Amino acid sequence: MSLNDLFTEIILDHYQHPHNHGIIAGATLTSRGFNESCGDDIQISVLVKDGVIADAKFSGAGCSISQASASIMTDLVRGKTVEEARQLAGMFYEMVKGTEGDYGEEMGDAISLQGVSKFPVRVKCATLAWHTLEESFAKTNNGENK
Ligand code: ZN
Repeated sequence: MSLNDLFTEIILDHYQHPHNHGIIAGATLTSRGFNESCGDDIQISVLVKDGVIADAKFSGAGCSISQASASIMTDLVRGKTVEEARQLAGMFYEMVKGTEGDYGEEMGDAISLQGVSKFPVRVKCATLAWHTLEESFAKTNNGENK
């Protein structure tokens, strides 16, 4: 498998036409994450209402994998509870580490990043958005600033 095989249509589509790109005015949570090994810089803003992620957006710059992963991540966590989003993050980390498992339905488009497990250097690109999301959760107990 070569690095080019990683850039599937799904990843390129999310990179070229990112979903949920921008910053939420009135976000309850924001966090910024860097991946120094690649130069990826991502900002996540989240709106949590009654424990549910009503909206999630990202902005920033970085390689196609980091950007596509952020686009996919924001799609996946919308409508989920904070706890469910944490579980998805945990599942995503296992998948890109190469842990065998059934990641089909819950991972959605993120399944297209499974091949990253073959390229340890790029795993950080793929997980950056998820780690940044989790960091924003860690700033409060339930994701809602009072
Ligand atoms: Zn990167």
